[in-house]
Amino acid sequence: MEQERIPGELAASVLPGLRSYYRDITEKLNTVGHERALQVFLIIVLAHWAEHLVQAYQIYVMGWPIPESRGVLGYWFPWMVSSEILHYGYALVMLIGLWLLRTGFSGSSYTWWMISLWIQFWHHIEHALLQGQAIIGENLANSPVPMSLAQFVIPRVELHLIYNTLVFIPMIIGMYKHMFPPAGEEAHTRCTCAVRLKPSVT
Ligand SMILES: [Zn+2]
Repeated sequence: MEQERIPGELAASVLPGLRSYYRDITEKLNTVGHERALQVFLIIVLAHWAEHLVQAYQIYVMGWPIPESRGVLGYWFPWMVSSEILHYGYALVMLIGLWLLRTGFSGSSYTWWMISLWIQFWHHIEHALLQGQAIIGENLANSPVPMSLAQFVIPRVELHLIYNTLVFIPMIIGMYKHMFPPAGEEAHTRCTCAVRLKPSVT
């Protein structure tokens, strides 16, 4: 009887701590730390984009076979591209970033940011599906490679260029509107991202 109560008590003592830790972190990330956090997030997103664009260049311009077109890092470390876990990991990092940094946005920039978040949520489900097939060792429709749902209609390389574009465009619009808030939306900003709120140097 004593032992049965322990997990519950442990959860009761740990959870409030974790919750207030999460609240502190997200509060900082969306106020004083929002500008820097968005910069770091953008660098990660752009680096990932660069890899996809190099891969597209290798396929369409250089005419390399798809399995050998692995971007820059994948050229030296082929396992980075062939391992589903890294693709899934990136999709998850992206989803978590969009989630953690969302409350710093307001008004129309928030709407655009959330559109990006929901599209990335679906993109991440697709990667979870790919990851699941890699773990189980069996692929949807007995395909020789792991398949995501939209992949039945659009080939994988093109599909992920499309997904990344669909996530990227609303994300950038959201960031832009956050930096240059439309009239009436500045008042809700709690961070230093808005360009007009900074002391003018000139
Ligand atoms: Zn901000």
